[in-house]
Amino acid sequence: MSDCIFCKIANKEITSDIVYENENVIAFKDLNPRVKIHFLIIPKKHYDTILDIDDQNVMNDLFRAIREIAKKYNIDKNGFRIINNCKEDGGQEVMHMHLHMLGGEKLKTNII
Ligand code: 5GP
Ligand code: ZN
Repeated sequence: MSDCIFCKIANKEITSDIVYENENVIAFKDLNPRVKIHFLIIPKKHYDTILDIDDQNVMNDLFRAIREIAKKYNIDKNGFRIINNCKEDGGQEVMHMHLHMLGGEKLKTNII
């Protein structure tokens, strides 16, 4: 989608702090980190919401990204939190599906 900010990040038209990339997925630092580690994991292809992902390869690569980022940033031992805000009631602001990956400290509730 031409006017989607996360598509532009995925296409590297807009710079971001990329922390991880695989065939179908890219992950980068959130512009406004709420905790010590706050990454956004997105499919390179545009899907509005988590409900629209219909490709098993993309699902696999999203989960692969979670595992590999956890190891790379040493949060696999102490743990982390994955959040997906979906549509209006979920508080989704950017309409390109993204997983928030939060960690690096003991997390409270209601962060995002
Ligand atoms: P949502 O509320 O849609 O689940 O979360 C959107 C997230 O995207 C927010 O945490 C916000 O800080 C982040 N964000 C919005 N625009 C940009 C941007 O241009 N670059 C980066 N790195 N993060 C962004
Ligand atoms: Zn997009």
